[in-house]
Amino acid sequence: RAAALGIDIGGTKVAGGVVAPDGTIGATARRATPGSSVSETEDAIVAVVEELAAGHDGELVGVGIGAAGWFDRTGDTVLFSPHLAWRHSTLRKDLEARLQRPLWVGNDADAAAWAEYRFGAARGADLALMITLGTGIGGGIVLDGLLRRGSHGVAGEWGHMRVVPDGRLCACGNRGCWEQYASGTALAQTAREVARTSRAAAARLLERVDGDAERLTGEDVARAAADGDPLALELVTEVGQWLGQGIADLAAILDPEVVVIGGGVSKLGEMVLGPARERLDRALPGRGFRPGPRVVAAELGPEAGLIGAADLVRQ
Ligand code: BGC
Ligand code: ZN
Repeated sequence: RAAALGIDIGGTKVAGGVVAPDGTIGATARRATPGSSVSETEDAIVAVVEELAAGHDGELVGVGIGAAGWFDRTGDTVLFSPHLAWRHSTLRKDLEARLQRPLWVGNDADAAAWAEYRFGAARGADLALMITLGTGIGGGIVLDGLLRRGSHGVAGEWGHMRVVPDGRLCACGNRGCWEQYASGTALAQTAREVARTSRAAAARLLERVDGDAERLTGEDVARAAADGDPLALELVTEVGQWLGQGIADLAAILDPEVVVIGGGVSKLGEMVLGPARERLDRALPGRGFRPGPRVVAAELGPEAGLIGAADLVRQ
């Protein structure tokens, strides 16, 4: 059977790939997400689709688009996006007009959850939760073989659970959201805070950005941690602990069999997952008397979103 295109639109990049029916990726393409305007984001999506479709025309089933936004149940409207410009935007209609192909349009982490259920770490699970750690925290729920999107389409937005009363300001407008403590943005934010108060402690991190603390990104911290920088390792451990605490809370509500961790930050693997499991073991309500979820890395890695979106256009 023929391939489909999968597109993943995050806070910082539009990534696309040609995806075979078994979930494997062929050619890929990528653009920065110009987050400030709806039409620029759409232009970037169209550019990635056109680049990938060239040479495959006629063979493509359609285009699946997973985007970091909150969709209504039909997928017609992006109600809101904390990191991009969408506010009640008619993304599907706009893209239908411009792309003239069958589309699936929905939340990026929902698409990732579906991919892990179909081809990855959540195969066969009766209740699987996806947590993507990127610009924010995305979430998806697969229950009894179906992607569950809630009564209004916005289930699984646990990046915006309040974990710290009056905590850090979030792009959603609230304070203290989980994604302010356990995401790529959180890594960068804590690193900048440390660098501002103690340049000595952050010396090795600062070398990466010519001494300018404000330029530190989550990627910088992740790379430093991978190189063994003790401060970066400590920050990554902290993110893992926040992650484990949140999973304990989710387990109290949903009792999942498996929790799959994806998104860019999950590339750090055990550096994040180890502390997350440790914290989960200590924080799970009823621990010692009940089973908890398995916490595993996304088998499809940061590509899960685009693979899932491509598969959903076939469903
Ligand atoms: C949004 C999610 C999105 C995630 C991506 C969150 O802030 O609420 O919809 O999946 O960011 O990183
Ligand atoms: Zn929030």
